[in-house]
Amino acid sequence: MTLIRHDLWAPPTVDKRGYPGIGKTRALAQIKHVVYHSAEGWRGNIMPIQNDPNREASWPMTVLLDGTKWMHYQVEDICWINGNPTANIEGFGVEFEGVKGTPITDAQVKAGAEIYTDLKAICPNLGPPILGQGFEEHRRVSGGATTCPNDRIRWSDIRALVTAPLPKEEDDMFIITETDGQKRVYVVGGCGRKRYVGGPAELGVFVHIAKLPSYNVTSAQAAAIPDELQPGNVTVAGAVVAAELKKKDWR
Ligand SMILES: [Zn+2]
Repeated sequence: MTLIRHDLWAPPTVDKRGYPGIGKTRALAQIKHVVYHSAEGWRGNIMPIQNDPNREASWPMTVLLDGTKWMHYQVEDICWINGNPTANIEGFGVEFEGVKGTPITDAQVKAGAEIYTDLKAICPNLGPPILGQGFEEHRRVSGGATTCPNDRIRWSDIRALVTAPLPKEEDDMFIITETDGQKRVYVVGGCGRKRYVGGPAELGVFVHIAKLPSYNVTSAQAAAIPDELQPGNVTVAGAVVAAELKKKDWR
C-alpha cells in the first residue's frame, strides 16, 4: 500500500471503502486521473463527515486553504467521493477546503500540483495534466449530477506548475545513489532532469522529509538515465530508473 507526500496522516474512525464484488482496493495501474472537488466547507467539517458511518462519503486527501495536506486513506483504497464505482476506481479524489465563489488559494494550487506529480510517479496510467485526461472534476465523472467543484479549481495554474521546465525541489520523485568509490546522490525531477544534490547525508534528509523512493546504482547505470526528458514524461523517468536499477531499495 502506498502513501504520497502529506502533512498529516488522518485516517477516519470508520472504514468506508470499496464495493461488494470489487473489493476495497485497486491497483495503482487502474488510476487514470485526479478528481479535484470543492469541499463546500471548512476544516472543522472534514473529519466529522469522514467519521460518520451514516454518511456515504469518504475521500483519500483534503487540502486546506493554507495548502496543508491531510491524507485519510492510502492511494490504492477505493473511496466514495466521485459519484459512481467507475469514477471511484479510476479517480483519485481530493477535497479542497472552501466554498463556491472563491477560487482555490495559491497554496492549494501548489498542493494540487504536488499531488498530481506524486501520483504521476507511481501510477503508470495516470493521464497527462489536461482536463478530461489526467485532470477531472466531480460534475464530469459523475455525469453532471453535481455542480462540484463550482469553478473553484484553477486547472491552468496547476498545469503550469506541473509542467514547469525547472521542477522545484519538492516536486522531485526519485533519489539515486551512485556507488563508485564515493557515494553521490542524484534526484530525477518532475521533468526527468537528473541533478546532483550531494552525498549520503543529503540523501538521508531527503528520504526523511519527502519519503521518496531511493535506489543504489552504479556509475554506469546513473549515466544511462537521461539528463533531460520532456515535461509530462515523468513515468518514462520512473521506468528507466526501475528497469536500470532492478528496484533495489536503498533503505
Ligand atoms: Zn465533489
